Amino acid sequence: MFRRVSIIDFGLTVEQEMMRNTAREFAEKEIEPIAARIDKEAKIPKDVIRKMAAKGFYGIPFPADYGGIGADYASYVLVLEQIARASAAVAGTIGAQTLAEIAIYKYGTEKQKQKHLVPLLKGEKIGCFAFTEAATGSDPKAITTKAKLDGNEYVLNGSKLLISNSPIADTAVIFAKDSERDNRVSAFIVDAKKEGFTVGKHEDLLGNRGLEVAEIILNNVRVPKENLLGEGGDGYGILLKTISFGKVGTSAVTLGVIQAALDESINYAKVRTQRGRPIAEFQTIQWLLADITTKIEAARWLVYRTAFLVSQDADVIKESAMTKLFVSEVADEVVREAMQVHGSYGYTKDFKVERLCRDARALGIIEGTSEIQRVIIASLLR
Ligand SMILES: Cc1cc2nc3c(=O)[nH]c(=O)nc-3n(C[C@H](O)[C@H](O)[C@H](O)COP(=O)(O)OP(=O)(O)OC[C@H]3O[C@@H](n4cnc5c(N)ncnc54)[C@H](O)[C@@H]3O)c2cc1C
Repeated sequence: MFRRVSIIDFGLTVEQEMMRNTAREFAEKEIEPIAARIDKEAKIPKDVIRKMAAKGFYGIPFPADYGGIGADYASYVLVLEQIARASAAVAGTIGAQTLAEIAIYKYGTEKQKQKHLVPLLKGEKIGCFAFTEAATGSDPKAITTKAKLDGNEYVLNGSKLLISNSPIADTAVIFAKDSERDNRVSAFIVDAKKEGFTVGKHEDLLGNRGLEVAEIILNNVRVPKENLLGEGGDGYGILLKTISFGKVGTSAVTLGVIQAALDESINYAKVRTQRGRPIAEFQTIQWLLADITTKIEAARWLVYRTAFLVSQDADVIKESAMTKLFVSEVADEVVREAMQVHGSYGYTKDFKVERLCRDARALGIIEGTSEIQRVIIASLLR
């Protein structure tokens, strides 16, 4: 006899469903109508950021004591997925801020949380998370930014490249080699309005246009000693743990992008006719749509499961690498197939699927390339 006890529950809680519906309605009403313009002008209107802050989207998986919503990480990924169905760039700006928030929440002191985390979670301030430098994309050890203690302040010098949200950020989590700890890497909370903190080259991105990505130049930026995150010298650990959570959010953004690709493909297949029939009646198109649907379903449950593990505060370094790797491979296939359903029109800017193809490509590159995810996964096999 089988015991009728479920150990795996794939249903959403009432709260998760509510968060998903709220985000879907917001995305359809406030973002979808302007998403093509955001992509064209590579700019998210400030009003959208303000409205998302009012909805609490910058503080979803954090306690209400710090200005968050107090929901779980699964609710957070459900919201990102829905927003990304309309615009990956808009969802990406939340994801980039959440990286800074996770680092401060997990490693910050109570005083740091009250001062720096609360305004971020309430959406009163914008945050960014800056690790990458010219030589450090896939080699974290090649970091050159320096932090030298001078009295009660650290003095930061160096530059960071490709940092999401940096042109609009108020607060940055910056990684640098720490003179006080044998040049091991430490993480610092840095006021982006401080003298010596400037934004350099803005990147003109292929996709996710509207997400503002730029260089940060640090020229003798003075940071109070009390802004050191964690013990000091533990920057790689902070980076690894924070990014492992971040990858699940970024995968959810891409999940929203490929769901949109499916939605667009189904709609197009119903209205486009050839030889007097909607192309949806051709088996070739039906098979493409069946393949896309199946792949998205597998990707979705991997994202949701890893989000569930994050909510349990589990170590997800391997799981998040697998999730990001799998979703990025699926995304490349899905957008290619979705464009195939659209024929030549999908290759023009008149159809959303063109933007979705560009947006989907990012996942295999950001927060560590797919090759590096394979290196991480293989290194953790026993
Ligand atoms: C839109 C966008 C937003 C970003 N936002 C941020 C941000 O907010 N904060 C931040 O810190 N960074 C950010 N980045 C930077 C991003 O995380 C890095 O660019 C990424 O990790 C890849 O590094 P790289 O470009 O230097 O590639 P490289 O390391 O130069 O890689 C080039 C190629 O070599 C391969 N390769 C390199 N080393 C190895 C190896 N050891 N084994 C096998 N193959 C290898 C790679 O897989 C890749 O195919 C962003 C990037 C983009 C595009």
